[in-house]
Amino acid sequence: MVIDLTAWQQLQQECNASGVTMVAVSKTQPIEAMERLYSYGQRDFGENYVQELLQKKDLLPSDIRWHFIGHLQTNKVKLLVPFVYRIHGVDSLRLWQAIDRQAGMANRSVGCLLQVHIAREETKFGLSHEELNQVLDATHNGETLAYAPLCGLMGMASMTEEVVQIQEEFRGLHRLFQSLKAGRFADSRDFHSLSMGMSGDFRIAIEEGSTQVRIGSLLFGPRPQ
Ligand SMILES: *Cc1c(COP(=O)(O)O)cnc(C)c1O
Repeated sequence: MVIDLTAWQQLQQECNASGVTMVAVSKTQPIEAMERLYSYGQRDFGENYVQELLQKKDLLPSDIRWHFIGHLQTNKVKLLVPFVYRIHGVDSLRLWQAIDRQAGMANRSVGCLLQVHIAREETKFGLSHEELNQVLDATHNGETLAYAPLCGLMGMASMTEEVVQIQEEFRGLHRLFQSLKAGRFADSRDFHSLSMGMSGDFRIAIEEGSTQVRIGSLLFGPRPQ
């Protein structure tokens, strides 16, 4: 059940007012539902699975900006780089370098976001602060990855009802983002995205400084099983 135009406009306005981009997370959702959102004006879509994304992008308008937000395997990178707009969730140097290499071969630039682990749960992907610094040290502040410029950071908060917990996790990520932006990336034209916030916690994320929210079920209704 896709939300109606008025509800979409309200969400869009809420995001715009804070300078936030709303990425519509369409994994497992049918093409018709995506076309509906497209007709409202939605252009940023997020997908988690490579095969599904490859099928969908051929069926939908070419001015869509595709964000890959799932866990990406290195051997699938070359399938995405010819068309993908952003890859959120880069969580290893190896993956980042593979994106750079393949994007170079495709002769285009693919903006990347490094995923930082901020949740309490063990299961979520992402780099610890220490691992993040190691990755950044190894790439000379990102300058060597010409075809995979670092656009910012991405994180997912704990699955909890405790607002304070979620606030603290987002706040910590924002602080890290700001310190990199003022430090290593002070001269970067690319490093300006902080991808945090989903259907259940996007308002908290915006309050804590998010620049991109990834919203699925609130736009599309519950995901088909
Ligand atoms: C599925 C997913 C979302 C959207 O989740 P909703 O709760 O439906 O808004 C956002 N980010 C990532 C990484 C996801 O996998």
